[in-house]
Amino acid sequence: MNLVVALFLAQDGIANGVVYALLAVAIVLLFSVTRITFVPQGEFVSYGALTFVAMQDGQRPGTIPLLGLLIALHVVVDLAAGWRRQRAVALLSSALRAVAGPLIVLALAYLGSSFHLPLIAQAVLAIAVITAAGPLLYRLVYQPLADASVLVLLIVSVALHFVMTGLALYIFGPSGQRSAPLIDITFPVMGVPIAGQTLLIIGITVALIGALYFASQHTLYGKAMQAVALNRTGARLMGISTALAGRTSFLLAAFIGALAGVLISPTTTILYDTGFLLGLKGFVGAILGGLASYPVSALGAVLIGLLESYSSFFASTYKEVIVFSLIIPILLVQTLRQHRIEEDDHDSEAVPAQLNLSPEALRRRRRIKTGLGVAFVLAVAAMPAILSDYQVALLNYVGLAAIVVLGLVLLTGVAGLTSFAQAAYVGIGAYITGYVSSTYGVSPWLTLPLALAVACVLALLGSLITVRLSGHYLPLATLSLAIVAYYLFAGLPQTGGQAGMTDIPPLTVAGTAVHSPKAWYVGIWGALLLLQLGMSNLLDSRPGRAIRALKSGAIMAESLGVNTWAMKIAAFVIACLLAALAGWLYAHFQRFLNPSPFSFNQGIEYLFMAVIGGAGSIGGALVGSGIVVLANQWLQTNLPLILGMQGDFEIIIFGIAAMAMLQLLPRGIWPALLDLTGLRVPKSWTFSADAKLPPLRDKPVPGETVLAVRGVSKNFGAIAANRNISLDAKAGEVLALIGPNGAGKSTLFDLISGVQRPSSGNVHFLGRESSYFPRDLSRAGMGRTFQHVRIVPEMTVVENTALGAHARADTSFLAAALRLDRPKEAMLIAEALRQLERVGLHGAATTNAGSLALGQQRVLEIARALASDPCLLLLDEPAAGLRHLEKQALAQLLKQLKAEGMAVIIVEHDMDFVMNLADRIVVMQFGEKLAEGTPCEIQRNPAVIEAYLGGAE
Ligand code: ADP
Ligand code: MG
Repeated sequence: MNLVVALFLAQDGIANGVVYALLAVAIVLLFSVTRITFVPQGEFVSYGALTFVAMQDGQRPGTIPLLGLLIALHVVVDLAAGWRRQRAVALLSSALRAVAGPLIVLALAYLGSSFHLPLIAQAVLAIAVITAAGPLLYRLVYQPLADASVLVLLIVSVALHFVMTGLALYIFGPSGQRSAPLIDITFPVMGVPIAGQTLLIIGITVALIGALYFASQHTLYGKAMQAVALNRTGARLMGISTALAGRTSFLLAAFIGALAGVLISPTTTILYDTGFLLGLKGFVGAILGGLASYPVSALGAVLIGLLESYSSFFASTYKEVIVFSLIIPILLVQTLRQHRIEEDDHDSEAVPAQLNLSPEALRRRRRIKTGLGVAFVLAVAAMPAILSDYQVALLNYVGLAAIVVLGLVLLTGVAGLTSFAQAAYVGIGAYITGYVSSTYGVSPWLTLPLALAVACVLALLGSLITVRLSGHYLPLATLSLAIVAYYLFAGLPQTGGQAGMTDIPPLTVAGTAVHSPKAWYVGIWGALLLLQLGMSNLLDSRPGRAIRALKSGAIMAESLGVNTWAMKIAAFVIACLLAALAGWLYAHFQRFLNPSPFSFNQGIEYLFMAVIGGAGSIGGALVGSGIVVLANQWLQTNLPLILGMQGDFEIIIFGIAAMAMLQLLPRGIWPALLDLTGLRVPKSWTFSADAKLPPLRDKPVPGETVLAVRGVSKNFGAIAANRNISLDAKAGEVLALIGPNGAGKSTLFDLISGVQRPSSGNVHFLGRESSYFPRDLSRAGMGRTFQHVRIVPEMTVVENTALGAHARADTSFLAAALRLDRPKEAMLIAEALRQLERVGLHGAATTNAGSLALGQQRVLEIARALASDPCLLLLDEPAAGLRHLEKQALAQLLKQLKAEGMAVIIVEHDMDFVMNLADRIVVMQFGEKLAEGTPCEIQRNPAVIEAYLGGAE
């Protein structure tokens, strides 16, 4: 490469990079205001460019009727909302006011496209049409989900990307377009001609970024928009409207996208699907800027452009692989710079209503459910006899998809980790067996363990990196994994590239090759049913409970001795193994492989299957795959006939279906069906009275110092939440920690239990310096409850309690899936029931924890802490929300625990309760220890009376 080539590549890279920078800036803007990870940002670019080109060709671009459709939908949705609130007239006028701007644009664009306007007027009109659509999109797609988690918003964005790409194909057709140049001048620099067009793009981009940066830092409105992002409730209370902020930021984002589209349309050929990759590269830049900084994101995006330009020179096939591989280390660095234990924001999912049924009715429902299950298995068995070969082959595809989605149920629905990469792992399984069995003639039965082993190693590698990532970074990393994998499948010589791999040997059973779809049906559906059974066993076991607890937050699970990192990796590996197994089956069933079934679009589709069927349930996996695969088949043949055009239009339907599901039935079809038919019945627990209890740990003798806190301080920025606190707790005593709200009591609990690390000073537990890891401390015998209750609401009371005993048994995943864990499981359940009995909650054992009253949930937390067999118990305001008699029972329990030799530290505001119970009291104020002594001494302490008790009397 000589200097001229290098300069050419640099110009190319900068010209592209600047466009990515524009997109990166829009993405940062949207994320910082709305928390939406806006994947389809690039679609605004292609829509803008193609609208512009269509106008130049003297056509009326399809985006104009589309804008009309969006306006109509907007009015309809607003009216429907008003109908429910009985304020239709007021809403009609407000809806019309909201669409007034877009209506004017629509009229102008309609008129404008009837005449032949000058180029610049066409550019303005094209940008205006797309810009007007931005706020409408926000209103229709995102505003109903304003309180959803970042993850749900991300899935919706991916769905919107599907819809927008499919529509673009319909509106603009499949061929690439270029527009006439806006500026037709070039300047030679060092022998390299620099296009005026490039300079124009750079100039506009720099100006725009500068303006946004200034607006966000220095204008009131810019600051208000940032405030909305940080705290929606707070902003709402301050009179800042989230909806308005959302619409404004979408207006800007659409404007930036369309502008970029018009600017690049003379230099780049734009296709209907060009936008996605453009947008994703903007994303990589935005992520470099931590989705927060405009200048850093823009700079990052320019670097991506340069990297892409130079890598296309050296390794053009792997250009995308190089760019998208970059995203993972970047995400990793971003995450590692964050807090130690990250609490993601989660949707507060509605806990399914609990049926209040008599035991007799329950038994009947269970019988009906079992009967339906048996009928289902019989129906599955009968299918080959009833259906044609073609229909059975279709069912085979349903079964294969269901195996993949079953993994996603565990990973996404249960563990809360969203993965777009499952199709890539299907591809890994398929290509490994395809390559090895066809090239080396190895029996597929031998390539199965090989394929699984490779998938396992790659899943471990993938998860070691991605599972560390928090929140929306994880799905973004899986999305780039999926893209990298796809380009590898399409580019590597071993896979046969786009042309594919043919002549994959068939599977042989007892010497005969299996060809017929019906024989395959037996294998695929047999495997599926067994896997479903195994998954259902796993979820109902010690490791299954731990995985189910992940969604309720890492701090809670770690404080119960669960290794959340290992659980996440396990979920990831299991999901990938299922995907690879499906791939292995697919390769030998299909006997031909090409990259498209393993593309990122297919990865997204698997996620949609889970969302549509019900991501949290095993039945949902099958329902979702059934609906999507069969609908896909039908739509792929019929939509092109209806629309009179070839193409993947079914993605429009699936995108809309996924968005509608998330808005209307967020838990999916299967759970809704269960609720509708009243067949959601709690599991019947069979308790044996003489079950063994798990072994007890050695306890310190009464009077021995269990906990020694020495001079700890904790600062949160400028707030000194704890200042130089020292205290001891001894076995067999109750120490009360009192003080006004904000005194720092809960912070001290967090320091003791390892949730936070002290800024200075240290904590000794059982004679050793604390590791400040909640899991280690819990396993060493420290149990705690939380001031703000942390339970797994959709798990039963007994399961929540058994979670506390997690560290007291060691069931493996395999043993759990094969039901070989029953003796240990009986032990854990027996222990959970014993503790529930102790706290008086055994009557509610099979109730969903989320449907308990708040006071009861606190008591449940105590039972859960006790199930870990602790020698130190930290209780943060346990009596809040309890009635008088319940408080007495709690006091009784604590006295009993003390008599058994446990050390108890209790934070409590009820002074009668504290004075009657505590052996010693520590009083805190403003983060400092104010006094320490027996209840009598404290009651007589002048400083305490002055500061605390005095105020109350
Ligand atoms: P208490 O439990 O006695 O009511 P806390 O320990 O909850 O008090 O809070 C003590 C002080 O520390 C309060 O001013 C609170 O706002 C602040 N604080 C607690 N946790 C955090 C945190 N994670 N970040 C910032 N400030 C915090
Ligand atoms: Mg507190």
